[in-house]
Amino acid sequence: MEFSHRSGDYRLAHRQARPEGSSVPIGHGVLIGGPALAICAGPCAVESEEQIEATAASVARSGANILRGGAFKPRTSPYAFQGLGLRGLEALRAAATRHGLAVVTEVLDPRDVDAVVAHADLIQIGARNMQNFALLREVGRTQKPVLLKRGLAATIDEWLAAAEYILVSGNERVVLCERGIRSFDPATRNVLDLAAIPVLAARTHLPVIVDPSHATGVASLVEPMALAAIAAGADGVLVEVHPTPEQAASDGQQSLEFEAFARLVERLGRVATAVGRTLPVKSAAA
Ligand code: PEP
Ligand code: MN
Repeated sequence: MEFSHRSGDYRLAHRQARPEGSSVPIGHGVLIGGPALAICAGPCAVESEEQIEATAASVARSGANILRGGAFKPRTSPYAFQGLGLRGLEALRAAATRHGLAVVTEVLDPRDVDAVVAHADLIQIGARNMQNFALLREVGRTQKPVLLKRGLAATIDEWLAAAEYILVSGNERVVLCERGIRSFDPATRNVLDLAAIPVLAARTHLPVIVDPSHATGVASLVEPMALAAIAAGADGVLVEVHPTPEQAASDGQQSLEFEAFARLVERLGRVATAVGRTLPVKSAAA
């Protein structure tokens, strides 16, 4: 493919470093980038033990294999709910373990990396921190798998150069997450760049998942975009799910109710089959 790109900025992440592609084991029997999809689901933020337990039970039953939930939240306003911190991490881990799920959660501050490593299977670097180079180097020093979200206005090459910071620091377990980019049209929260999936497949060996929740900001748009992402070759999806979206402390307007998530997984299964992939294998604890 003839795209202009600055591959000198990323050598370890470049496709040529591993032409066969890489897959990232994150524990709890979950491999991202293999034949089975990664399905991450859960609330924007962990709000209470009851909320995360109910969500874990439901999404595990519906076929998710990774539980998400923010304990440290990057909020536009300092007055908005900032997350439960360590208490949230503990509740998230406990609920996931009860239901046989792996955990993905965001770290905002290099000083919290050890605590997040102790509780999570996959550490999320959020869009706002994609070029927080100190944080990238810090998670790169661990051997914990990292989910690197695309920055709000990052080019694909800037994103891959950010991934390179983690790889060159000694951690080769990196998964990318396309979550929409800023544009001019307020019809959707961001613009989901689905073409990024095949572009990435040409430029990097790293697995890629798609977050249709933050990309669209609208619950009714999550299912069509999740299906399209898998059709385009994504290795999985990350979807916000809440027991009562209208009462969510953050991102309720883009969160799916339990029933809608169950329907989504069922339909994802059909698209997966069409493109030679499978749903996650259901865990016995689900
Ligand atoms: C999130 O996943 O809750 C989040 C804040 O995502 P992003 O960094 O993509 O905005
Ligand atoms: Mn959110």
